Amino acid sequence: MTKKFVYFFGGGKAEGRTEMKALLGGKGANLAEMTNIGLPVPPGFTISTEVCDLYYKNNKRYPAGMDEQIKANLVKLEKVMNKKFGDPKDPLLVSVRSGAAISMPGMMDTVLNLGLNEKSLKGLIKLTGNERMGWDAYRRFINMFGDVVMGVPHHEFEHALTGIKKKYRAKNDTDLTAKQLKEVVSTYLKIYKKGTKENFPSDPMIQLKKSTHAVFSSWNNPRAIKYRKINDIKGLLGTAVNVQTMVFGNMGDTSGTGVCFTRDPSTGEDKFYGEYLMNAQGEDVVAGIRTPLPISQLAKTDKKSYTKLVAIRNKLENHYKDMQDVEFTIEQGELYMLQTRTGKRTAAAAVKMAVDMVKEKRISIETALMRIDPNSLDQLLHPMFDPKEIAKIKPAASGLPASPGAAVGHVVFSADEAEKLYESKKYQNIILTRIETSPEDIGGMNVSKGILTARGGMTSHAAVVARGMGKCCVAGSSDLIINYKTKTMTIKGKTIKQGDVVSLDGSAGNIYVGKLNTVEPELTGTFGRIMKWADQTRRLGVRANSDTPHDTEIAVEYGAEGIGLTRTEHMFFDHPGEKAGTRIKPFRQMIMVAEKVKILREDLEAAKTTENAKEIAKLEKELAKPLKQYKDALAALLPLQRKDFEGIFKALKGRPCTVRLLDPPLHEFLPHEIKGQSEMAKMMNIPVKEIQQTVESLHEFNPMLGHRGCRLGLTYPEVTQMQVRAIIEAAINVKRNNRIKVLPEIMVPLIGHVNELTITKDQIEETIAETFKNKKASKTEIPYLIGTMIEIPRAAVTADKIAEVAEFFSFGTNDLTQMGCGFSRDDAGKFLTDYVKMGVYEYDPFQVLDQDGIGKFVDTAVRLGRKTNPKLKTGICGEHGGEPMSVKFCHRVGLNYVSCSPYRLPIARLAAAQAVIEEKLANKTKKKK
Ligand code: PEP
Ligand code: MG
Repeated sequence: MTKKFVYFFGGGKAEGRTEMKALLGGKGANLAEMTNIGLPVPPGFTISTEVCDLYYKNNKRYPAGMDEQIKANLVKLEKVMNKKFGDPKDPLLVSVRSGAAISMPGMMDTVLNLGLNEKSLKGLIKLTGNERMGWDAYRRFINMFGDVVMGVPHHEFEHALTGIKKKYRAKNDTDLTAKQLKEVVSTYLKIYKKGTKENFPSDPMIQLKKSTHAVFSSWNNPRAIKYRKINDIKGLLGTAVNVQTMVFGNMGDTSGTGVCFTRDPSTGEDKFYGEYLMNAQGEDVVAGIRTPLPISQLAKTDKKSYTKLVAIRNKLENHYKDMQDVEFTIEQGELYMLQTRTGKRTAAAAVKMAVDMVKEKRISIETALMRIDPNSLDQLLHPMFDPKEIAKIKPAASGLPASPGAAVGHVVFSADEAEKLYESKKYQNIILTRIETSPEDIGGMNVSKGILTARGGMTSHAAVVARGMGKCCVAGSSDLIINYKTKTMTIKGKTIKQGDVVSLDGSAGNIYVGKLNTVEPELTGTFGRIMKWADQTRRLGVRANSDTPHDTEIAVEYGAEGIGLTRTEHMFFDHPGEKAGTRIKPFRQMIMVAEKVKILREDLEAAKTTENAKEIAKLEKELAKPLKQYKDALAALLPLQRKDFEGIFKALKGRPCTVRLLDPPLHEFLPHEIKGQSEMAKMMNIPVKEIQQTVESLHEFNPMLGHRGCRLGLTYPEVTQMQVRAIIEAAINVKRNNRIKVLPEIMVPLIGHVNELTITKDQIEETIAETFKNKKASKTEIPYLIGTMIEIPRAAVTADKIAEVAEFFSFGTNDLTQMGCGFSRDDAGKFLTDYVKMGVYEYDPFQVLDQDGIGKFVDTAVRLGRKTNPKLKTGICGEHGGEPMSVKFCHRVGLNYVSCSPYRLPIARLAAAQAVIEEKLANKTKKKK
C-alpha cells in the first residue's frame, strides 16, 4: 500500500491534529484541530510536508500514488460540500496555500479562487447573484495564477488594471463595475497568453496540479531561503499544501475578512485585538492598500459575527492555552475560520502573557518560562526614549505603534540599499523608510534598527515582521510623503533626505526628526516575576563581566551573583573625571623600563657570580634610574587599582569577585604615534629614539600567542605583586571601613602548563602573606581563592594536574575557541561568515559555543579537574556566557556558573532555568522509553 500523503478535514472531523505540525505544517495541523473542536472551518485537505521533501528528492516530481490520493480527497470534498469542481452550475472553488511547520508569513505562494473558468464563473455569478464579485474573483485568479504559478510579472497585470481604472475614472478597484471588470479579465487573459505562450488553463485539475507544484517550488524561492536563514529555521522537510474550499469576503457589505490576535501582541494585554475590512479578500488587509478597522467596530456593524468571533477567541485560548493569531472571513453574514496559529509577540507581550496565564491557571510556571525566547529579552533590556524629554517635544509625525522600543538612525529608502550601506559600514544605524514593505524587503529590514512606513495597519507586513524581529516599527504614518526617485520624504512640508537622522518611538508610534536621548528600562513588574521564577528554577549561578564600579552596580541590578571576570587591563585607560593620562602614562612608563630592568638585573646577577666589582658598580649605576622609574610607575598604579577594586567590592555588597591579573600583550598600550612618544620621552627624561626602540623591540608577529597573560607576570613579577597588593588592600579596606564582606578570587590568565600556575601562585601567596602581615589581616577576614582561566587547549587536557594547584577554573572560551579552532579572534570574521553560509560551522563559534569541538575541551577539563580536586569551582567568562544555547551547554556539563555582560544577565538567567526544565523533560522521555 502506498503511504498516506493527503489528510482530509471537513464534515465535523479531521484526519490531522495540532501535534502533526511537522507532517501537515502549522496551518494544516491547526485547520484540522479547529475542525475537530467544532469551529466553522471551510473543508479541505492537506498534502503533507513529506511530499515536498520527496518532490525535491525526486527531481520535482510527485511520489507514486499521490495523484490518486488528491483525486480521492477531491471527491470527498465535493461530497461534503455538495458541489463539483468545475461545475458550470454550482462550482467548487478552492484556495491553495503553503504552510510549513514553522510559520513563514508571506514567504511562499498562495493561489485563490482556483476552479474558475468561463463556464464555472457563470455558475458562481448565478449562485451568488453577484456579477461584479464573480468577475473580480476571476480577474484576481488569473493574476495570481499567472504571477505565482507561471511567472508572468505581477506589474504587467497591475499596469493593465491601472490603465482601465484611469479610462473609467475609477479611484479604487471597488469602483469598477462588472462590465469593466470583464474588460480587465479579457486584458489579463491576453497578458497571460503573451507571457506564457499558452492559453489560460480552463481545466480545474490542471489548475490544481500546476498550483500545488508552484507552492512546493516556492519552498526554495530566494526570499523563503533568506527568511529561514535570518530566523534560523532548520531541519524542516518542506512546506505542506492546503487545498481548502473558498469562502468569499468580497461578496458585498455583509461579507468581510480580518486578522485577529486573542491578546494584544504588542503589550500582552488580555484584550481582543485585530483588524478587518468589509467587502475584501484576505490579502487586502495584509497589503495595507485599504486601512482596516479595529475589530471592536465589528460589534456595531455585524453583531452576530462579532459575538461568534469572541466566543471562538475564548474557545481557542482555552484549547491552545496560548495567544492565537487567527484569520477569519465572513461570507454573506456567515463566519468562517481560515487559520489559527500561535501568535508572534514582542518580548514585553511574551513576558506579560506568560505571567498572566500562570495567574489564570492556564499554564504552569515551567511552561511560562519555556514560552519566552531568552534572546528576545534583549528587546526589554535596551534603552527607551527619555519620557521627560519626549514629554517636552512634539513629534514631527505619527503613525501606528506597530512594534515597541526606540530606534535612532539614518533614513534609507530602499531595502537593498540598506543592506549595502550596512555591509559597507557607512551606516550601522538605519531606519528603513518605505511606503509599505513587502517580503522582498526582508534583508533590509534585518539590518535596520527601525522600520517606518507610510501605509499599512497593525497587521501589515512591516508590523508583523518587525515584531517578529524585535525591531521598533512605526507603521502607516500618512504624514509621510515618500519619493523613492529623489530619495527624500516630506513630513508636513519639511524635507528629509536619505542619510538624515530620525528617532522612532515604536511604543507610541511617533517620529522625531534628529537624535533623541534614551534611558534605561525598568526591570520590575511582570519582567521581575519571570526573573524570580527563573532564579527559583535554575541551578547554574550567574555572574557578570565588569571592570568598573558603575557596571558592577548595573550587574547587581540585573541579578549578578558576583563578578566572574574583571579585566584589570581595562583599568589602565583614562577614567571619566580624571586628568588625561593619569593611568596610561605610569603604565607606559612601567612597560618601557620593565624589560630594561630585567636585563640589567640578570647582567648584575651574572657579574656578582664572577665578583667583578667594577662591572657590578657600573651595572648598579646603570640600573638605578630605570629601576626607580619602574618602582615609581608601579607605586603610581597601585592606589589607582586599589581605588577601582574598592569601588567594585563596595558595589558587590558581599558577592564574590574574580579579578584577573594583567592579560594582554604589552605593545597594545604603547605609544605608536610620535606625539605620544615625545610625551613619554619628556616625562621619563630620555631621548625619543630610545622610546621608539623600545616600542620596536616589543613588537610581536603573533601577539595573541606572544608575551601576554601569566607570561607577563612570570617575567615581570613586580606587576603581579602590585596587582595582588592592590586587590588585597582594597578588600581589607572595604571590609573594615564599610563592613562589607569581600570575597576576592584572584585569577591567572592564559595558563597552559601547571608549572606556570605553581610559580604564579607562589608569588601571589607571598604577596598576600606580606600584605596581611602589614595590615594585621588574615584569610579568615579575607577568604580569598586563587584559580586560573582555562583558555589554552593544553590546559584543558591537563586539567587534572592544574586542578591540584587551582581552586577554581574559569573557561575563557574566546581564547579557547581561537586556539582550539585555530581561528584568529581578530581576523576570522571575514571567512567565518562564509563558513556559516556554507554550513561548515552551524554558527559562528565565537558567538555560539562550538559544543562538539570546543565544548569537548570544557567537558574534559571539568571532569579531569574534579577528579583531582572535587571542590573545584567552575565557570565560564568568554562571550558565550550570555548566549542561551551555550548557557544550556554549561548547565549540562555541570559548571557552577556563567559570567556575561551585565545586560545579558536576564538572558542567561532564563536560559539557565530553561536548561533545568529541558533536562527534566528529557529524563521523563527517557524513562518512558
Ligand atoms: C576569553 O578568552 O574567553 C576571555 C574571557 O578573556 P579575553 O577575552 O579577555 O581574552
Ligand atoms: Mg582570554
